[in-house]
Formats: sequence, C-alpha cells, structure tokens
Amino acid sequence: MGLRGKIIGLFFVCFGLMSFIAILFLKSNLEQGFLSIEHKQASEQLTQLAGNLNGEIDRLNQVVSDWGNWDDVYNYTLHPNREFTDHQVSPSSLKEIDIKLFLILDSQGKTLFSQSVNLMNGEAESAAAFDNVIANIRKRVAHPVAGAEKACGIDNAPVGPIFICWQPVRRSDLSGAHIGTLVMGRLLNSTLISKIQKQSNIRFELTPLTFAETDTVFNPKNVIEPENIEFGKNEPGILSAILPNLAGQPILKIRLQFPNDVSTRGEELTWKVVRVLLIVTVLTGLILLGSIHAIIIRRLRKMDKDLSSIWRNGRWAGRLEAPPSKDELNELSHAINRMLALIRKQMVMLESIALTDPLTQIANRRAFDERIVIEMSLHKRNQTPLSLLMVDVDHFKRYNDYYGHPAGDEILKTIGNLLSQIASRPSDLPARVGGEEFAVILPATDLDGACHVAEILTSRLAELKILHADSPVADFITLCIGVTSAGDEDMATFVQRADKAMYSAKQSGRNKICVLPAV
Ligand code: GH3
Ligand code: MG
Ligand code: MG
Repeated sequence: MGLRGKIIGLFFVCFGLMSFIAILFLKSNLEQGFLSIEHKQASEQLTQLAGNLNGEIDRLNQVVSDWGNWDDVYNYTLHPNREFTDHQVSPSSLKEIDIKLFLILDSQGKTLFSQSVNLMNGEAESAAAFDNVIANIRKRVAHPVAGAEKACGIDNAPVGPIFICWQPVRRSDLSGAHIGTLVMGRLLNSTLISKIQKQSNIRFELTPLTFAETDTVFNPKNVIEPENIEFGKNEPGILSAILPNLAGQPILKIRLQFPNDVSTRGEELTWKVVRVLLIVTVLTGLILLGSIHAIIIRRLRKMDKDLSSIWRNGRWAGRLEAPPSKDELNELSHAINRMLALIRKQMVMLESIALTDPLTQIANRRAFDERIVIEMSLHKRNQTPLSLLMVDVDHFKRYNDYYGHPAGDEILKTIGNLLSQIASRPSDLPARVGGEEFAVILPATDLDGACHVAEILTSRLAELKILHADSPVADFITLCIGVTSAGDEDMATFVQRADKAMYSAKQSGRNKICVLPAV
C-alpha cells in the first residue's frame, strides 16, 4: 500500500474513533440531560394532576362539611326518621349533586342510613357493593390518621374508583359534641376524568394495580405523594403514581404519557452534531490529504523519478532538486545529492584506475582498445588522418636478467614518461599495451608527423643514455618502432600493420624505426 493509502487509512481510523467517542459522549450526556428535563416536566404535570384530583376531593369535602353541620342531619342522627331520608336524601336529589354513596354512621360506627344511587337514572341501588369501602371508612373513622389534613380518601369499589369524604355530624351552630359521622362518595368515573383532563390539559388514565405493584405500603395522608411518582421502567415514556385506598393499601395507578419533544429535539440535535462532525471530518480529511499530497507525496514521487533516471542512465553527475528551504525532505535531497557526488567521485576514480597502467601511470591496454575504436571511426567519418606507433624495448629480457626486475621497471617508467612528453596533444594517447610494449595513438597526424614523433622518441631516449651492458645492439637501451597511418580499412588491419612494422624493425637489426604506409 502506498504512503497515501496508509495516511488515508490512518486518518479514517483516527477520525472514525473520534467521531465514535463524540457520538457516545453526546448520546450518554445530552440524552440523559434531555430525559431528566422531560422527567422534571412530567413530574410537574403529575403534581398538577394531583392538585386537580385533590381539588375534586376538596369540592366533595366541602359538600360533606356543609351537610355535616346541618341540623336536619344532626336530628336524624339523634332520632332516625323516614321523613328526612325520603325527602332530603332521596336518590334523585343525591344524583343532582353527583353523589354515588351516602352514609350516616352513629358514634359507634354503626350504619344508621346508607344510600347508593344509580347516577344514570337516579334510582336507589343496593349499597352492598360498597361493603368493603364502608368497612374501610369505619376503620378510618375509628382510627383517624394523625396529621391528615382532610377526612378524605379514595377507594376502589366494584363500579370503579370512588372519592370518599366524611365529617362528624354536628349542630349548625357547632354546639355540643358530634354524634355520628356523615359519609359521601363521588365516583371517579369517565365524566369526572374527562372534566379533570379538560381542566388540567393532561391526558391520564387510571388502572388497577398488578399484584406485584400492590406489595408496597403508602402513607395514606394524601392522595398522591410525590415520592410515589415513578417513571415507567417497563413502559418507556410513561409516568405513573400509585394511589392508596382508605386503608393505606395501594389500589390504583395514574399513568400519563409524558411529553418527549425535548428528547426528540435532543436526539435531532445529536444527529445534527454528528452530521456536522462527519462533514467537518471529511472536509478536514480532504484538506489534510491535499496538503500531504502537495507537501510530501508529490515531492517524494519527483525524487523517486529523478533518482530512477540517474540510476538507469548512470548519470551520476545528476542532482536532485533541493530548494534552500529547510524541511526534512529538502534535507533528504541534500543528503542524497552528497551521496551522488561521492558516487560520482568514486566512479571517476574507478574509471581512471581501470584505464591506467599502475606502473607507468599512462593509459593501459584497455584504454588503448577503447580509444582506437573511437579514433578509427572518427578517422573514417571525418576523413582526418590517424597514425599509430608500436614501440618495443630491445632485448629487455636481457636487461632484466642483467640488472634485475626492479631496474627493468624503472626503464618502463622512464619510457612511459618520455611517451607522455612527446605525445603531448590532448588527443594523443600513449599507452602500455604489453610487458615492454607501448603504443601511441596520434589522431589528426599523418605518416610524416608520426615518423617525426618516432624520431623524437628515439633521439630523446638516446639522450638519456640508459646503459644496457648486455645488449648486443648498443650500449644503451634502444627501441624498435613501427609507424603506420590508417587507410580505408578496419581497425584490426590498421593495428596489425603497426605491429608488423615494429617486427620488421626487429628483424632488420633492432634500434630501428620501420614505416609501413596504408595500402
Ligand atoms: P626483443 O628485443 O626481441 O624484444 O627481446 P626482448 O627480450 O625485449 O623480448 P622478450 O619478449 O623476449 O621479453 C620481454 C621481456 O620483458 C620479458 C620480461 O622479463 C620483460 N617484462 C615484461 N613486463 C615487465 C615488467 O613489467 N617489468 C619488468 N621489469 N620486465 C618486464
Ligand atoms: Mg616484446
Ligand atoms: Mg622487446
């Protein structure tokens, strides 16, 4: 995978991780926050609903208070008579004030009078259906709850939940002790529920408790205690409160759907933030990638291309672009350029070693072979003259044998020096082509010129008067020189002719220059 792919991969892993953490953070923190705002709102609604329910109870309580201090009720409690019950508390008159259950108990809690009303038609009904409720009322009357504000409560009758309030029966001027208890019950039926819903603008429902839910003890002082409010664990979005009956046992549950617009909006906001994060991530990624491409990858590719071209073409003199600005890539370019310079220096050195004879420090056989090919092709192309000298030391074996090998080496060095001095044009090439054999390539030199060079060589050597006591030819070191010029022929023929000329010199007595012109 390329550098760019790796950077893109790394970038997406990092930003993906960041976005994931951000989403987790937003979801866990914001959503909790929004939910608790909703819970608070819902609790307030439930408290308001409790107020409405308690308001209904207060209204009933007011009616019971009025009746409880009514002399007619007082007199009836003292002397029960049909006159009062037939006329004052007839089913139809109770229906008019929406009373389902009407009871008068004596001071012992015994029922003096009980009346249940069919609220549809205003006819009397058996109060037996309320036996349980009446038993609970008796208990509460006999054992009032300390600190209770009102003598009221709610209970669950077979016909549905019912508000109950009770008052001691007294004279209207409140003189004398109370002599019994007046009880009234108002059904919390659908009519009343929709009335409360309209007043409070809260939709709620009353449901009987499940068996598990009844396993709790409640303070029966008020209808709804805030601590009884619970947020539906199994029913998301539902808020419920438990209502206890007159005996303090939980019987009913108020359920209301709490508004979830805050958390809905919160969730929308969360996703909006996530979207913005993603867009920012992608944009940042693109900008980063663009910058990385321009600053690093493009330059790396260019360096790679230039280096490959230098390597392929062996162009060691080439250099990478390295602007003066000081960043790591430019430093790298400078370092590579330093290495290239070193490589070039080494190459030049190697080439020169490869083409130089180590003893005489003039060109070697290899350099001669390369150069003669070039000069031959130049001679043919430009029709310029080209000459060649083949030089061999006479009786050199004898010299070595007589004076020793190191002395022989010195002779070879001297001749190498002499050749360098006389073949002094830049294009001339003196070379050591064998043990004691030398050659001199003379470009742009005709046969006469070459003969002249050969003569100079002979005379300069003669001037040196290097003793060769064992030479049968002379007292000094002498040479045989073959001279020729190139004609319209191939290179091998040309070189062979120079050799031939040199051997002719040997054969004709040594210490000679033999000239063989081109045929
Ligand atoms: P000729 O006159 O026929 O050329 O006789 P010659 O002895 O010069 O030729 P020959 O080919 O018989 O011997 C060449 C000698 O050159 C043999 C060897 O000892 C000597 N020689 C070759 N290379 C070197 C070298 O590098 N140093 C020394 N000192 N001698 C060398
Ligand atoms: Mg020889
Ligand atoms: Mg020789």
